[in-house]
Amino acid sequence: MPTPCHRLPRVSEDWGVDVWIKRDDLTGFAGGGNKGRKLEVLLPQVLAQDAKVVVTCGSSSSNFVRQLGAACSLIGVRCEAIVMDLPFEPGYPKPQIPPLASGGNETLNELFGTVIHRIPDGPWETLFDEATNRAALLREHGEQVVEVKIGGSSAEGVFAFRQAAEEISQSFDHLVVSSSSGSTLSGLASGFHGSTTHVIGISADPEEENYDDVLRLSRECAERFGGTRLTEVDLRYEYVGPGYGVASEEGVLAAEYLARREGIILDPVYSAKAFAGMQDLVTRKEIKGRILFWHTGGVPSVFGRPRT
Ligand SMILES: *Cc1c(COP(=O)(O)O)cnc(C)c1O
Repeated sequence: MPTPCHRLPRVSEDWGVDVWIKRDDLTGFAGGGNKGRKLEVLLPQVLAQDAKVVVTCGSSSSNFVRQLGAACSLIGVRCEAIVMDLPFEPGYPKPQIPPLASGGNETLNELFGTVIHRIPDGPWETLFDEATNRAALLREHGEQVVEVKIGGSSAEGVFAFRQAAEEISQSFDHLVVSSSSGSTLSGLASGFHGSTTHVIGISADPEEENYDDVLRLSRECAERFGGTRLTEVDLRYEYVGPGYGVASEEGVLAAEYLARREGIILDPVYSAKAFAGMQDLVTRKEIKGRILFWHTGGVPSVFGRPRT
């Protein structure tokens, strides 16, 4: 870091606006992506607590589990992750398409030696509880455990993206970024708070509760590190498609478009949907001028396949 930030000349020409891209797909660690930034702030804490085990949770194709597992190997700590192929929120329709749960990040988890406990699909709440239970069980057995929040979304994750915002020296009218567990959006929105850059999150999940998470995370970051506390954020839910963890039609088209016009790879779960959302907002003239697309990575998911 800092990751490259450059103009997309062909996209700009096609759309008639000035589109730039921040390349956090190139954070450069263990396949790249936004989680590398959070880990730079989180890992020193694991070291400070003298932990022997890190416990987290996520989907089977989680980019955070992949990068956390690799980071734990560097510091000689065992990484255990509770995963579900397709966690869901009760009350929201379950996607009828199978998630891209096998291959991709799953293959890399194996390579990094991450201990994966795959449990049957259920509500997100169950996934979080199982991680907490696993940490408690290991503690009962006398192990020094640190539990890391899903997606690395805690005050540290927000702080990492507040710092990331400082890498942008030019001025933009809009910034578009994918959002899920919330700390990336929370950090960037805080970082650009009070500037002329309007930050828009494109949600990868249908759950409207995620909006509150973004604000809560901002408060937690302000309490821990000081600085801006957000009272509102622009988070769009229209581009989720069939649901979390599965591709959307518009996302697939957006990924093909960017690959064929600029040679840049988007992932189906997050960044392709965010790019498709940005394209739609440009088409509807809701955003114009100078636009920055924050590429969050996730490239290994391109190699994800439905479990057979
Ligand atoms: C985790 C992730 C996101 C979302 O970031 P959050 O901080 O969890 O909101 C977006 N894109 C990719 C590729 C990710 O892995």
